[in-house]
Amino acid sequence: MDIFKGQNLLEFSNRFKTELDCKEYLADLKAKEGCECLKCGMTAFQKRMGFSRVYNVCFHIKSATANTFFHKVKFGVRKTFFLCFEMATSTKSLSASYMGVR
Ligand SMILES: [Zn+2]
Repeated sequence: MDIFKGQNLLEFSNRFKTELDCKEYLADLKAKEGCECLKCGMTAFQKRMGFSRVYNVCFHIKSATANTFFHKVKFGVRKTFFLCFEMATSTKSLSASYMGVR
């Protein structure tokens, strides 16, 4: 999670102004890990609002936050980004595995 390193809070808040900015970032991360459907293994999908994907064959929906630390949070992805930034800059020990982003 390079975003949490070497930045100050101002740069960070400029980078992630909205929930969508955060979801876009997560979607980019997930795009790098492969784009097969977890259900059927097909790769054809269409993008939907909030950077989620709908697969053409089985209509399985994969959200930007699926399988990440951010999927279950109730107070919003952006707030969680800032919490993580605080933790990362104060302890330097926040790892990608803790974030649940693989
Ligand atoms: Zn599928």
